[in-house]
Amino acid sequence: MRTTVGIIGAGPAGLLLARLLRNAGIDSVVLESRDRGYVEQRQRAGILEQGTADVLRAAGAGERLDREGLRHDGIELRYDRKRHRVDFPALTGGRSVTVYAQTEVCKDLIALQLKEGGPLLFEAEALAVEGADTDHPRVRFRHDGREDVLDCGYVVGCDGFWGVSRTAIPAELTRVFERVYPFGWLGVLADVPPSHDELVYARHDRGFALLSMRSPAVSRLYLQVPEGTDAEAWSDEEIWAELERRFETDDDWTLERGPITQKSVTPMRSYVHEPMRHGRLFLAGDAAHIVPPTGAKGLNLAVGDVVTFARALVHERETGSAELLDAYSQTCLRRVWQAERFSYDMTTLLHRLPGASPFEERLQLARLERIASSRAAETDLAEGYTGFPFG
Ligand SMILES: Cc1cc2nc3c(=O)[nH]c(=O)nc-3n(C[C@H](O)[C@H](O)[C@H](O)COP(=O)(O)OP(=O)(O)OC[C@H]3O[C@@H](n4cnc5c(N)ncnc54)[C@H](O)[C@@H]3O)c2cc1C
Repeated sequence: MRTTVGIIGAGPAGLLLARLLRNAGIDSVVLESRDRGYVEQRQRAGILEQGTADVLRAAGAGERLDREGLRHDGIELRYDRKRHRVDFPALTGGRSVTVYAQTEVCKDLIALQLKEGGPLLFEAEALAVEGADTDHPRVRFRHDGREDVLDCGYVVGCDGFWGVSRTAIPAELTRVFERVYPFGWLGVLADVPPSHDELVYARHDRGFALLSMRSPAVSRLYLQVPEGTDAEAWSDEEIWAELERRFETDDDWTLERGPITQKSVTPMRSYVHEPMRHGRLFLAGDAAHIVPPTGAKGLNLAVGDVVTFARALVHERETGSAELLDAYSQTCLRRVWQAERFSYDMTTLLHRLPGASPFEERLQLARLERIASSRAAETDLAEGYTGFPFG
């Protein structure tokens, strides 16, 4: 089997890349180790930056997003029983975000790919990338019980944090930057309309809580829990009671309860792999970097990477110059590090850090007060949340 761009992984990065390349007249093959149902149901991100929504629309994947996505013009910060709204358009010259689940982005892109795009093979597991630093990189993969080889002009590793593509970059050329946090998020889906029409980020002495949503009828709620917590150790009653405590305010706001349909714990990590390119192998999305979900950046970073790659390859096709491909890693990493900084700031601003001294806790509240009282500090948050420009 032969193609111009071999794409490993059919998460948001791989699927969007296949679509962008198809629209530019460049052929690709996508290999995905899991089945279609699994990829379409995997609950993850839900906030699209303005730039991400614009890219999906321009790629022809915006129809259902525009119909069902919920435009959000702000978030609420909650601390010390107080509420402060951050107004994105007023602070950023009109920018906003859209609530539209990653599962729905993937469903839309899969449907388009199967209808109009090149091959998308499910249950096709990449085993290794070979010859990354030659003109003829190859992906060895297993499909339908037998091994095969995909000969490529370029390979893009979109196979997430646990994928194989990163391992094809020699260790002596690699630097890894990592921070693992001593807590995670217990996330639940509940069949109840969200109790607030925008996301609520709550800092509480008992730990962080987030009120989010998947649709007008489905709430997504999170609680900070110690690292290694088993989701099943929390009863539904305990989850609702703890959420109520952490969202408490001085006014008459109340949290509506409903049936919990799913619960899971997400570990929290910051991770960057440098470089993001080796020869003709390019890493994109979670294969190269992870952010804690507090800043809602993971999916948006994946989109930025594949837009950068697609532009660079089109530039090479049109001008014969590989300058943008050569600059891929630096271009992506500039944006990646801004998102790492923002996600780290949001995480340390809002979570209860084990071992934090009373002094550090007062500083955390002072940072929140600063955002609530200074337009400059608030603008910095709004700019980061609505997204950094693509390179
Ligand atoms: C539990 C969880 C919750 C999250 N919540 C949020 C959130 O609330 N907000 C936010 O912004 N971000 C969140 N994220 C992060 C966000 O979902 C990711 O940043 C995003 O999925 C990255 O997309 P991707 O395409 O790079 O990788 P992925 O979505 O991980 O896709 C990688 C794909 O590659 C496939 N694959 C792996 N290995 C192979 C192989 N060897 N061969 C073939 N295919 C392979 C995988 O099956 C997968 O389909 C969350 C992540 C997790 C894990």
